[in-house]
Amino acid sequence: MLGEILDDLLTSPSTGPCITATRHFAPRPPVLVPFPPSLDPRIADALRARGIDELYSHQARAWELIEKGHHVVVVTPTASGKTLCYNLPALQSLLQHPDARVLYLFPTKALAQDQLAELEALAKALPEMRMFTYDGDTPQDARRAVRARANLVLTNPDMLHSGILPHHTKWATLFQNLRYIVIDELHAYRGVFGSHLANVLRRLRRICRHYGSDPQFIMASATIANPAELARRLTGEHVEEIAESGAPTGDKTFVCYNPPVVNPELGIRAPYLGEAAKLAIRLLRERIPTIVFAQSRLATEVLLASVKTGVADKTGDSGIVRGYRGGYLPTRRRAVEKGLRDGDVLGVVSTSALELGVDIGHLDVAVLAGYPGAIASLWQQAGRAGRRSGSSAAIFVATSAPLDQFMVTHPDYLFGTPPEHARVNPDNPFVLVNHLKCAAFELPLGPGVAGDDVERFGELDVRRFLAALEDEGVLHHAGSHWHWAAETYPADHISLRTVTSDNFLVIDTGARDATQTKRRQIIAEVDWGSAFATIYPKAIYLVESEPYEVQELHWREDEEKVAYVKRVRVDYFTDAISAKGVWIIQRLADRAHTAYLAEQGEVLVAEKVVGFKKIKMGTLENVGSGEVELPQQEMQTTAAWLTVTAETLAGVGASREELIDGLRAVTYLLHHLAPIFLLCDIRDVGSWLGDTTPAEPGVVATRESAKRRLMSAERFNPTIYLYDAHAGGIGLAERLFEVLPDLLRRGLETLHACPCPFGCPSCVGPVNEVGRKAKATAQALLQALAG
Ligand SMILES: [Zn+2]
Repeated sequence: MLGEILDDLLTSPSTGPCITATRHFAPRPPVLVPFPPSLDPRIADALRARGIDELYSHQARAWELIEKGHHVVVVTPTASGKTLCYNLPALQSLLQHPDARVLYLFPTKALAQDQLAELEALAKALPEMRMFTYDGDTPQDARRAVRARANLVLTNPDMLHSGILPHHTKWATLFQNLRYIVIDELHAYRGVFGSHLANVLRRLRRICRHYGSDPQFIMASATIANPAELARRLTGEHVEEIAESGAPTGDKTFVCYNPPVVNPELGIRAPYLGEAAKLAIRLLRERIPTIVFAQSRLATEVLLASVKTGVADKTGDSGIVRGYRGGYLPTRRRAVEKGLRDGDVLGVVSTSALELGVDIGHLDVAVLAGYPGAIASLWQQAGRAGRRSGSSAAIFVATSAPLDQFMVTHPDYLFGTPPEHARVNPDNPFVLVNHLKCAAFELPLGPGVAGDDVERFGELDVRRFLAALEDEGVLHHAGSHWHWAAETYPADHISLRTVTSDNFLVIDTGARDATQTKRRQIIAEVDWGSAFATIYPKAIYLVESEPYEVQELHWREDEEKVAYVKRVRVDYFTDAISAKGVWIIQRLADRAHTAYLAEQGEVLVAEKVVGFKKIKMGTLENVGSGEVELPQQEMQTTAAWLTVTAETLAGVGASREELIDGLRAVTYLLHHLAPIFLLCDIRDVGSWLGDTTPAEPGVVATRESAKRRLMSAERFNPTIYLYDAHAGGIGLAERLFEVLPDLLRRGLETLHACPCPFGCPSCVGPVNEVGRKAKATAQALLQALAG
C-alpha cells in the first residue's frame, strides 16, 4: 500500500513535478556476535528469556571497551538496541558487587520512566535489583526510601543539579560506590542545556572525588558529527566512540517535495502546511501509521487541525490523530504515547519533542513539514519511521524560506552533508559562574591537586570569577578555601534549560466539575521564554487544535505566573508581532574590507511583543490584528556585524529608503543562509538591521524604531547584525565573523539563481514586506559586498 502511494506521488501530474529527489536506502541484515564469556550467566538467561540469543556487534564492542575501563559513547540509529550497551554492564556490576551504585541520566522524566520499565522487564528474575526513578514527580515521603534503598537511580540533569548534588551527604553511599554514570540522548545536550550539563558533571565529579569514587561514563547519542568530542567536552574525559551499528534495518525511501508555485509573479508557492496535511491525510486514510513533524508549536496545532478535519469519520471523530508538543500536560502526552504504541492512535502531529527516544512503537511514514533546521534532526525525524524490517518512507516538504529551498533543490547537499557538530560552551561565564556558586555551596573550593592556588573547574582557571563572587559577598575566602557565604540556596534559582525556570500555567476558566461547580483546571504549561509570544491577552491558544482565548496574563514578579483562558469557537489563530533592537556593548574584533567593516563582540538584544495578526485556519488569510502591551525581554549575547561604508552605499545609487529595504533583504538572506556555514539550527541565530548605537540603560525596542532611526540619522551607517540566539553565546558569532565573506558570496549566488522577478520568500523575503525594488537593490549591495 505504501509502495503504491509513493509510486502515485512520483507519477501523478499534480504531484510528480513537485518531487525534486528520491533516495532509496536498501535493507541491511544484522551483524550478530555471541554473548561475551564474561557476561554473568544469569543476565544471559534473562536475555534469552526475552528472545535475545546473541548481541549486535556494537553492543559487544561496547561491552569490551567498558570492561577495559574506557568511557564510551555509542552512536547508532533509533531502534538499534543502544540501551543494552549500558544496561548490560550496569546490571552486571549490581549483580556482582552488592554495594555498587549506578546513576542514569535522561533529558526528560518520560524517558527515565520508559527506561525503568525496560530495565524491570529485563531484570525481573535477577537478585539485587533496586531500581528507582528520582525526579520532580517522586513524592516527598518516597524520596528517603529511594536514597536508602536504590542501587540504580534514574534521574535527569535538573534533579541532579537541584535535588541530589546539593544534598550529597544524604547520598553518601551512592557517591562512595558510584560505578557507572549513564547518559542517554547525549545529542540533546547541546547549546545552553549542554553547557549547563557540563558544569553539573564538573560538580558531580568533584563530589565523587570527595567520596573516593571514580565512575565510568557510558553514553548513547543519535547521529551527530562529533559525538566523541561532545562527550569529552561534557565529561572532561577521553571517550571511545562506537559508531558502527550491527542492527538490521528495513528498506526506506526518502522523498523531497517542493510545493508547486501558484503565483510566479510574486514567487509564491502553495502553503507547505497545506501540502503536508494533504500527504498525511492520504496516508492516514489508507491506515498507514504516520508521524508528522512541524517546526513550531503553532505550526503543530495548525497542521493538526487540518489533518483532523481530513481524517474525521462520518461521526466527526478524528481521534486516530493526536497532537504532541512541549507544554501539554504529562498525562496528555503519556496517553498519546500509549495510544501510538497500542495502535489506537494511528497518526501524530508533533514538534521535535518526539525526536527523542520516547517509545511510541512502530510508524511507517514520517512527514517532515519544513526542514527541521539541522541535518542531524532531519535524520532523527526521518528515523522515527521504519524499524528493523519492512518498508518505510520519509517525505520532506519544503517551506518557501531560503534554507528550505536550498535544501530541496540541492538534494546532494541534503543527503551528502555530515550531520552538524553539537556545540557546547561550558566556560560561558553566565553559565559557569552560576555553577561555581553551586559548587562552593556543595563543598568549599580548595587548592588544586597540581599545586594550583585553587582547584580547577574543568580546564579553566576560575580565580577571577571567585574573586568577583567574593566582592559580591556570596563567597568568603578563608585560608586556602572559598566558602559559600550567602543565606540562599543557589541551585534553586538556576535553571539548566532557560534563563528563568518560571513556567506559566494555562488555566481554563470555564472548567466545571461533575456538579457544575467551577474548578481550577490547568490545561497546559508555557515556559517563560515563549510565554509573551504565545499567551498574550486576546491570543488564541491551541491545545490539540482546540482554541482557547487568553483573557488575562499574570506575569509580574510578585504574582503567580498564570494565563486565564476561555474555550471559544473561532476559525482563526493568532501570530505575535514583535519589535526588536540590537545595541553594541563591547567590540572584541574587527576587520576592514573594501566595502564594509566587519566586527564581532557583545551586544544587547531587546525584544517585545507589540501586537498580533489573526490568521484564518485552512486558508491562512490575514483576517485582522490587535495591539498588546507587554514588558520587554533583554539578553546579552555575542554577535558579528557588518557596517556598509558610505562609498559602497553611494555606489548603489538608490534613495535612503530603497537602501534600507535592500539591506533588510540582505539581512533576511544572510540570516537564512547562515546555518549552512555554521551547521546549526536557524533558530540558534538572530538577525537585525540597525546602526552602531551603543547600548545604554533604558533602550527600548519599538515597532518601527530602527527604520525610523536609520531614515532620520544624520550619519547613515546601516549595520547588519547576526547574533547568537543563546544568552552569552555558544561560539556561533566568532564563526560567523570568520565566514562572512563566504556567506556574502553565497547570498549573491542565491539571488542570481532565484527565478522570481522582484524578490520572494525564497530569496529576499516577501515582496509586500521588503518592497518591489528590494531584490535589485540587494543584488547591487551584495555585488559590492561580496566583490
Ligand atoms: Zn526569489
